[in-house]
Amino acid sequence: MPLREHTKQSHRLLVLTLVLLLGCGFLATSLVSYQASLKSIRASIVNTELPLTSDNVYSEIQKDLVRPILISSMMSRDTFVRDWVMKGEKDVEQMTRYLREVQEHYGAFTSFFISDRTLTYYQTKGVLKQIRRDEPRDIWYFRVRDLKEPYEINVDVDLANQDRLTIFINYKVFDYDGKFLGATGVGLTVDAVIKLIDEYQRRYERSVYFVDRAGRIVLTGADGGPMGARAGQSLAEVKGLEALQAKLTRPQTGKFEYQERGRDHFLNVRYIPELDWYLFVDKHENGLLSGIRNTLYLNLLICLLVTAVVLVLVIRLMRRYQASIAALATTDSLTGLPNRRGFELLAGQALQEARRDRRPLAALMLDLDHFKQLNDTYGHQAGDQVLQGFAQDLRDGLRQSDIICRWGGEEFIILLKETGNSTAHQLAEKVRNDVAVRRYPYRGVNLHVTTSIGLAEMHPDDSLDSLIGRADRGLYRAKQSGRDCVCVEPSGNADVL
Ligand code: GH3
Ligand code: MG
Ligand code: MG
Repeated sequence: MPLREHTKQSHRLLVLTLVLLLGCGFLATSLVSYQASLKSIRASIVNTELPLTSDNVYSEIQKDLVRPILISSMMSRDTFVRDWVMKGEKDVEQMTRYLREVQEHYGAFTSFFISDRTLTYYQTKGVLKQIRRDEPRDIWYFRVRDLKEPYEINVDVDLANQDRLTIFINYKVFDYDGKFLGATGVGLTVDAVIKLIDEYQRRYERSVYFVDRAGRIVLTGADGGPMGARAGQSLAEVKGLEALQAKLTRPQTGKFEYQERGRDHFLNVRYIPELDWYLFVDKHENGLLSGIRNTLYLNLLICLLVTAVVLVLVIRLMRRYQASIAALATTDSLTGLPNRRGFELLAGQALQEARRDRRPLAALMLDLDHFKQLNDTYGHQAGDQVLQGFAQDLRDGLRQSDIICRWGGEEFIILLKETGNSTAHQLAEKVRNDVAVRRYPYRGVNLHVTTSIGLAEMHPDDSLDSLIGRADRGLYRAKQSGRDCVCVEPSGNADVL
């Protein structure tokens, strides 16, 4: 494979390796830090933020929802209530006053007592109605009566308050021997609880709702539950919760993650024993994760820019380095003239141009006379100085366009562009004469040399070799002729001038 091609290929390999190294390095560090940030944010949401919200909501619930349970519990144990029933429910006003006291003092929305013996519904304003088994609205009472547990929480309409949706705490009342006397308790409007949920949602920027054991949404904020779900709907019916459904077939306490339309959701579920409901606190990533993602993109962009800048610098450096190596390879270090390799490159082009433009071109081959002797007498360094001075003189005395080269040792070659035989001869004579009269000072001695020159004019059929060969033959003849002279070598047979 040619050297140039080989160098090109190794450059390509170097650039590719650099791109791969920088690319992989940058990509790996960016992705690792992205993953780490993602993980820490997720962990803080799942392990800290949501449980904290859940705790807060739970303690608020205890305050706002559990309190009525305690009140109802106290009512069920109240000796007045039990005694009044056992004494035959004589003075309705007594019971009414009692219920009014409870409602006003504890800030309940409604309070009630249903007697099992007379099936009378007492509330704060007096007797509301008689309970009937065949009345659908009264079914709840017969359900409570058969209840194993001491109480239930029921979301229902309130007959005493224009049928407003109300959360009732229905407590069973027993006499001192454990005989069932009826049901008592208080009610809270759902509006109040919804307000409560709205308040939680606003305060904690989360979606808060309650789900019963069967997976039915029992209570949501005013704007509905997740994805606009309404109370009464089962979680399985809510669009967007399919991913959650797959993980959470029925409500259970724990931490869950799911996706909804590409959004990450973090969910904390907690069982509230007092309500027998599950509290769902749901947070979807609101720009937090996309913020980190944007940071990743910015990181990658910076890495891309850095890689591009590094590559441009490396490629520039390589080109400069390559150019200086090429210059070194084609330049003679002592004289600064092109060496034989450099000459071949320049001369090939000059010959081509001369041939194409049908212009004359002359070659001069020069060799310093008795140079060995000069070296022997004054030392190698003196010889070097003469070679440098001689080269400088050639450069100064000729045109910029002429090609001057150190052929090797104390031999030089000159290509004179657009120069015919006679002009070339004159120039050669001038060079020879200038050298002959020139002195090269070295350590107080004025060194002196002469030069022999062979001259050949380019023939249309000439190659570089044949042209130089003729100039060389001219030089040989000049040496033979006693040195310090110019010999023209004709394109035909040898001809001494
Ligand atoms: P002639 O007139 O026949 O050319 O005799 P000459 O002594 O010049 O020729 P010869 O080829 O015998 O010797 C050339 C000398 O040039 C021998 C070598 O030491 C000397 N020379 C070649 N290159 C350098 C160089 O770079 N520096 C120095 N100082 N001398 C050099
Ligand atoms: Mg020589
Ligand atoms: Mg010589």
